[in-house]
Amino acid sequence: MTQNIPVVENIMNANDRLAQTNRARIDAAGVFSINILASPGAGKTSLIEKTLPLLKGRLRVAAIDGDIATSIDSDRAAAAGAGAAVQINTGGDCHLDAVMLHGALEKLDLTQFDLLIVENVGNLICPANFKLGTHKTVLVASIPEGDDKPYKYPGTYRGVDALVINKIDLLPYVDFRMDYFKQGIQVLNPDVTTFSLSCRTGEGLDAWVEWLVENAKKA
Ligand code: MG
Ligand code: ZN
Repeated sequence: MTQNIPVVENIMNANDRLAQTNRARIDAAGVFSINILASPGAGKTSLIEKTLPLLKGRLRVAAIDGDIATSIDSDRAAAAGAGAAVQINTGGDCHLDAVMLHGALEKLDLTQFDLLIVENVGNLICPANFKLGTHKTVLVASIPEGDDKPYKYPGTYRGVDALVINKIDLLPYVDFRMDYFKQGIQVLNPDVTTFSLSCRTGEGLDAWVEWLVENAKKA
């Protein structure tokens, strides 16, 4: 009878090592950085677009946008006031990894910024498995996706530092049980910082913006 002996030793893979290199670079510039995860259409780019004007005069922001194709999102970030916007096209990969972020950081003078926003590829599964080196991971959930997502994607919901619940203006029109949704989060990630907001109406954006400013001050 064979026995599996668990390897307790922490084996750091190449991605995690490069994520540490990225973090050191970001830290050296005194920048606060976030990695935004969400399913397609939850409102990652809209959140960035609505946040940038509210940060004007307070934080200098660089955006890095990951997508399989196009520069639509980085164009939107630039139009909304990002001081620099870099597009990463993954060419088919469904997530960003530390190598891709490393390449994008090469194109930025981080010392010119206070906040780095990385928008990951829209996907609730594997982006959570690839550390990039950013300080905080933010998950954007949205009302139309349904209230069962914490139960279906526990790995992603468990690992995030902040949760943005977007499109709350649609609550009257969608069967979304907020209690059920929040129970799922309570089990997986009871301490997660949560913001309920609507990028469309602007409701709730202030608390999110203050969270970014407070964290950037500490960086
Ligand atoms: Mg987007
Ligand atoms: Zn992937």
